[in-house]
Amino acid sequence: MADLDSKLVGVIGDRTAKVVETTFGYKTLGELLHHYPRRYLVRGELSDIAELKEGDEVTILAEVFSATSRRLHARKGNILEVIVTDGSAKLSLTFFNQAWREKELKVGSQGLFAGKVGVFNGKRQLAHPDYEMIPDGNDVDSAVEEFAGKYLPMYPASAKLPSWKIAQCLELALGALDELDDFMPEEILEKYSYPSLQQALRQLHNPADLDQAALAKARLTFDEAFLLQLLLLERRLELRKLKSTPRVRVSGGLLDKFDAQLPFELTAGQKSVAQEIENDLSAAHPMHRLLQGEVGSGKTIVALRAMLAVIDSGGQAALLAPTEVLANQHLRTIEKLLGSLAQGGMLGSESGATKVTLITGSQNAASRKDSLALAANGDAGIVIGTHALLGDAIVFKDLGLIVVDEQHRFGVEQRDALKSKAINPPHLLVMTATPIPRTVAMTVFGDLDVSTLTELPLGRQPITTHLVPTLEKPTFLDRAWQRIKEEVALGHQAYIVVPRISASDSNDSDIDFLYGEESKDIYSVEELGPELQSGALKGLRVAPLHGRLSTEEKDSTMRAFAAGEIDVLISTTVIEVGVDVANATIMVIMDSDRFGVSQLHQLRGRVGRGTSPGLCLLVTSALPESPARERLDAITKTTDGFELSRIDLEQRREGDVLGANQSGTRSHLRLLRVLRDETLIEQARADAQELITADPELAKHPLLKNELAKIQADSAAEYIDKG
Ligand code: ADP
Ligand code: MG
Repeated sequence: MADLDSKLVGVIGDRTAKVVETTFGYKTLGELLHHYPRRYLVRGELSDIAELKEGDEVTILAEVFSATSRRLHARKGNILEVIVTDGSAKLSLTFFNQAWREKELKVGSQGLFAGKVGVFNGKRQLAHPDYEMIPDGNDVDSAVEEFAGKYLPMYPASAKLPSWKIAQCLELALGALDELDDFMPEEILEKYSYPSLQQALRQLHNPADLDQAALAKARLTFDEAFLLQLLLLERRLELRKLKSTPRVRVSGGLLDKFDAQLPFELTAGQKSVAQEIENDLSAAHPMHRLLQGEVGSGKTIVALRAMLAVIDSGGQAALLAPTEVLANQHLRTIEKLLGSLAQGGMLGSESGATKVTLITGSQNAASRKDSLALAANGDAGIVIGTHALLGDAIVFKDLGLIVVDEQHRFGVEQRDALKSKAINPPHLLVMTATPIPRTVAMTVFGDLDVSTLTELPLGRQPITTHLVPTLEKPTFLDRAWQRIKEEVALGHQAYIVVPRISASDSNDSDIDFLYGEESKDIYSVEELGPELQSGALKGLRVAPLHGRLSTEEKDSTMRAFAAGEIDVLISTTVIEVGVDVANATIMVIMDSDRFGVSQLHQLRGRVGRGTSPGLCLLVTSALPESPARERLDAITKTTDGFELSRIDLEQRREGDVLGANQSGTRSHLRLLRVLRDETLIEQARADAQELITADPELAKHPLLKNELAKIQADSAAEYIDKG
């Protein structure tokens, strides 16, 4: 008899086992049994195509009418479109990058198709439906009869392993399985009336009815959430055990002087977060805190104050930025905010003053040497840099705090590389300008404490966002250029954001082809810039900014823009995060449907940062009522970053939602969806917390401990693989 760790070979036949391994990477029964059905085909619940409505989950019996595959222009790949008919009407089925299915879906053959009805370009369709073809020559009635009363599971499949074949393997696997031990504590199973692990696996693959399947699925989904939360809570406990140097605020130090010279009052939110950070820094174990805040909520000051507290107590701080543009800007902002407090070592400088230095990849040898020396001898209290800061050559005298700006671009690995540069584990403050819903934070950053800034500083003017739909209102675009001229006439500045650098550049933002049209002209910096300069924006000082310019060019352009020497910056998304020029009041985003929701929210956060109101114009040629237009509409209607990040996350795949942070544990998350399963995640978190508080070593739960160890071993292995 077999258990979950048993090899597939011997249970499902050697040849099939090989195919399963090459297709899905599964070697054990447990892995195969966790290959879950996406849905079930139910006999007696067939729908007529004519009656399908958008959003319905349906199963239809239909005949293949035509099948055509074609290449996509806008991005790599191909699309297979299959038209089926049931006599009453036709329906289109689409498959992206699965041209091999054309062989299965032969014209004239019949099959059962299941999926959720969507609408694209006004036509009803099933995107990536599940299906079961009726073998040639079989009589349809008896084939359909065959699973009368049964719920036929439909599995994620491939050319070599169609769904029915997977179902066969699972039947063999379930049959071979011994009595299983269940790692889930008895109390929890009782609390939610969940089935045992064995029952759940049986009922999910071979349910008596759909309610039973749903409960089985709930149990297995809970498993994922619960194990993940336990892992994260354990990691937190481990962190608590680490020793770090407490950085206690010194009165009369840099921080006090800084506060005294600050030209504005901190918001209530900034004050309370500052207090949380101060408490963390003075503890003997490292801080691990995520600071999330609305665009423009003032995270930089909060981080800077933490850095000053660390310098006051004798340590150094590193500030890691995702791009050179941002690193440069941080240097300027911080030097400006600190004023004479950043003039350490200069004649007549303020006592206790420190130095701020910059380390980037494109710096020249001499300035790099200076910066390295300042970091190594401790003279630089603040070292700002891009990932160049992670290099082996960079040594700190006493690194006490790492601040990571715009977290989503940094993985755990990079954080670890920096940590290794400190004597004791340093304190860590991670900032993100893309606010994320609570359960996502719990899942992605579950080992971090979270502080949130929701409030914007007093006097900040709201941003107004309007749509410029060029299909229906072609004249609106001229109006947009006119508005730029009006703002410039008032002494303000403007951004124009475009998806790509040059016309030949295919590197525009990667948005699902379903959201945009397949092939259309996309604006580029190199075309639009000169066109506007000699046309609609004649007489204004227009300058380009994009990733292909040299660092010096980028930097001098940013400086000139900040100094008001450029009226209009025409740029790619290099200005997406953090760029801060208070005098800029208008932003026009071309082909705005090419950008993600959070990205657009970030972008428009670049205007209205001063005391004049900001205006953002979203130019699009997307069709009315298309998903792209719906997203853009959502952005015009709210400036609540949390709400927008929900919309954004809902449109992404789970792997993208979880990001690199969960790289190791991701393969263990098959059913869990961080947004859909919010309640379940909250419950799992609470249950995990209760359990680990009562039994931190899991001494009373050896099976659970064992299960966690397995996941940890897998994540470690994946981590090494990525090497
Ligand atoms: P973000 O959270 O998006 O990184 P920043 O830290 O760049 O925001 O702050 C945005 C702008 O608001 C900066 O110009 C900053 O100096 C200013 N600012 C920050 N805190 C306050 C405050 N309490 N009152 C007024 N202005 C503030
Ligand atoms: Mg910022």
